[in-house]
Amino acid sequence: MNLALLFTEDFVAADRAVLTGRRLTHLHQVLKVAEGDLIPVGRAGGNIGSGRVLELTDTRAEIQVELTAAPPPPLPLTLILAMPRPKMFRRVLQTCATLGVKDIWLINSYKVEKSFWQTPWLSAEHLRENLTLGLEQARDTLVPEVHIRKLFKPFVEDELPALLAGKRALVAHPGTAVACPVHLDQPAALCVGPEGGFTPYEVGKLEEAGCQGVHLGPRILRVETAVPVLVSRLFDACG
Ligand code: SAM
Repeated sequence: MNLALLFTEDFVAADRAVLTGRRLTHLHQVLKVAEGDLIPVGRAGGNIGSGRVLELTDTRAEIQVELTAAPPPPLPLTLILAMPRPKMFRRVLQTCATLGVKDIWLINSYKVEKSFWQTPWLSAEHLRENLTLGLEQARDTLVPEVHIRKLFKPFVEDELPALLAGKRALVAHPGTAVACPVHLDQPAALCVGPEGGFTPYEVGKLEEAGCQGVHLGPRILRVETAVPVLVSRLFDACG
């Protein structure tokens, strides 16, 4: 937790918040803070800054916050991701939030098992929890939007073309002729397939909608590896 992300319900006054639960445990066990110390904090959707620990007990920490700096800039990327298996989904979601992806579309694909859609990790509560963990890692406050589309064809035919408008549209697919571009200077939309890959039909439909097939070389990467590799090729995180 490189920053404690504060939500409206954490505030007890305009400049005071109370931390409990996971964030309090982190203050005690990892940061080992004492009353009077400053900790990095941010307000969800707002600025980042510092919080002075006014009172610290086993059950709560009250902090006085000063939020004066903007969070890191968001990536101009729409990520369209075939729903990963639940164990991987959590990690991918956290990674996306850490990398600055703000627009995530979870879609169905032939090789997405039906049971993946039943995972509790898709509940609003768990989505927020994992996005928060990813944001706190990166000292970011802008909570990504997650859209769920359980039917591939209607999504690709009816919604995708509008989503791609004005963007460099790509589908990562091993074995395609074109290498994934680097250092884009325009917004992008990127489709990433499931563990078993997109089928040729699905790649055809994504291309029809306007996506260009791109590859990352001969090594096949797990989705959780492919996402950060693709994002860091497309956008310079040090910029
Ligand atoms: N056997 C599958 C195939 O050949 O498509 C492998 C799928 S891979 C584990 C999961 C997803 O990560 C792929 O659908 C693709 O979007 C992305 N990916 C992984 N390695 C890649 C590579 N070398 N080039 C392009 N995309 C890759």
